[in-house]
Amino acid sequence: MAKILIIEDNAGSMELMNYLLRNGGHETIAARNGADGIARALAERPQLIVCDIHMPVMDGYEVARRLKADPATRDIPLVAVTALAMMGDRERVLAAGFDDYVTKPIEPEVIAAQLARKLGGGPPAPDPAGTDPAPKTGA
Ligand code: MN
Repeated sequence: MAKILIIEDNAGSMELMNYLLRNGGHETIAARNGADGIARALAERPQLIVCDIHMPVMDGYEVARRLKADPATRDIPLVAVTALAMMGDRERVLAAGFDDYVTKPIEPEVIAAQLARKLGGGPPAPDPAGTDPAPKTGA
């Protein structure tokens, strides 16, 4: 059970994400654009933020830069939700400050497992390829 902020301009994606998270027992806060998302992050101090990339007013890259530049919000795990599929987008998303990302179309089981890991409260996501390296021990 966590308080999760969803920043998403698409009504259908918002509805689906909201449903998934509430179904998982979480409290959700909705923001329809990046500027509102930052205001809600500061006011509500969620434990996790999921954020779309393509939005009016302020896109997800700018949201990430601002949240990670502010000591009040920089420690909140920030996950991009995006349809981006081109090579290099992952690097761009992470370079903007996102801690992780999931891709649209949203797959309920995948995203539930991924967000649970970010919250530290769920089982680790399955590793279909079986290629997870051994856990890092220090370095
Ligand atoms: Mn969008």
